[in-house]
Amino acid sequence: MGKVRDVVITRRTGFCYGVREAIDYAKTAAAEGKPTHTLGQVVHNEGVIEQLESQGIRTVDTLDEVHEGAAVVIRAHGVTPEVMDRAKARGLEVIDGTCTWVIQEQRALSQLVDEGYTIVLLGTPRHPEVVGLLGFAPDAIVVDEEEDWGRIPRTKRMALISQSTQPPWKFERLAAYLVGRCHELKIVNTICPVTIRRQQDTMEAAAAVDFMVVVGGRSSANTKELTRLCQIAGTPVLQIESAADLHDPDAFGDAELVGVTGGTSTPIEDLQVVTRRIYELAGTAEARDHAARLAEASLRRVADSTYRTSSVPSSPVPTEV
Ligand code: SF4
Repeated sequence: MGKVRDVVITRRTGFCYGVREAIDYAKTAAAEGKPTHTLGQVVHNEGVIEQLESQGIRTVDTLDEVHEGAAVVIRAHGVTPEVMDRAKARGLEVIDGTCTWVIQEQRALSQLVDEGYTIVLLGTPRHPEVVGLLGFAPDAIVVDEEEDWGRIPRTKRMALISQSTQPPWKFERLAAYLVGRCHELKIVNTICPVTIRRQQDTMEAAAAVDFMVVVGGRSSANTKELTRLCQIAGTPVLQIESAADLHDPDAFGDAELVGVTGGTSTPIEDLQVVTRRIYELAGTAEARDHAARLAEASLRRVADSTYRTSSVPSSPVPTEV
């Protein structure tokens, strides 16, 4: 018999506003009867992709797969100016879902290029956001892990900028490293506040519970960072992609209070499904009996207008089992 009696979903989870907006653009275009495509997966979540497909929205890998006159949604990560120009030249209806924060990064990069800085971009080399950013600063030096940093040349004027979802601690450490490698260092902090707040909330939750579950894509940098933070907090943690990955009740040990958090591409509704699964798998007898209702209550505790990142309909929060 399990011991879990309460599962709390952290505040400010669910899609970030950039992802949500790109999805909304695609849905709106499809609802208006336009043949709609997204260039690349709008979010790395198979359930969401299936849902979009059921609404007639196709994911394509290249612009060549889109017929002239059809709509193509640029996802939140953004693309290079060259891709944007090509889409327009091909007569496609371009719906730009590039996140406003990413647009700021792109502008900042263009400015740094104009100012003549040697640019260091902290990011995951083949991540779509980084690929798009390099379209604005082709000579930027992309570095990720600390082992990479040694190849940054010494130079007089250097600028540091970051992919939006990089952890702040790494950005700060790289900034400190660069101080010793140049005469002038310009730092443009482009780490997204959504990422920072999500990490703070996860740290808070991890400090308060016996066990954490992090939900998100296996290769998602921001998801992995949440897992790392739980480990730093000393809280046992399990990173999963979905409720289907939860099989073993023993994984929860003697935990009574469990926290659930998710990456910026994880719909908050998935966290409710995961919460229910935890109650069913590792809950007390009473919790198991009321798993569905308890999971809904866990979601509604954070799904109010103060913290919201989903379209969960408003209704009174169930308070009793
Ligand atoms: S994480 Fe931030 S920058 Fe990236 S898409 Fe979401 S809101 Fe935009």
